Amino acid sequence: MNRDELGDLRRLLREARDQLARTVARTNEELATLKAHQPGAPAEAVTTELVAAILSRLEGQEKHELDEIAAAQARLEAGTFGGCEGCGRPIPLARLRALPTARYCVPCQARQE
Ligand SMILES: [Zn+2]
Repeated sequence: MNRDELGDLRRLLREARDQLARTVARTNEELATLKAHQPGAPAEAVTTELVAAILSRLEGQEKHELDEIAAAQARLEAGTFGGCEGCGRPIPLARLRALPTARYCVPCQARQE
């Protein structure tokens, strides 16, 4: 994967995280902050803190999704992103774009289920 592709996936993961935050944002202030959130803006650190606070309320399936996003972000930063945890081969980019949190290629995923 090249830098552009990695940057793209990093953005997709961040968007998925923000999307989850939107589902649990409760106050107008929280919603306004999320709406104004622009990646790379100077206020991003503050916003990240707020998003983390909002996301800490997640439970069940949404909490699981958030954990998967965080794990994928960690793999991305560690440089181990995109390898299938079943067979070790690279997961096709199209699959990662559709599902950035994927841990397995399609055949291995089918075996898991
Ligand atoms: Zn595999």
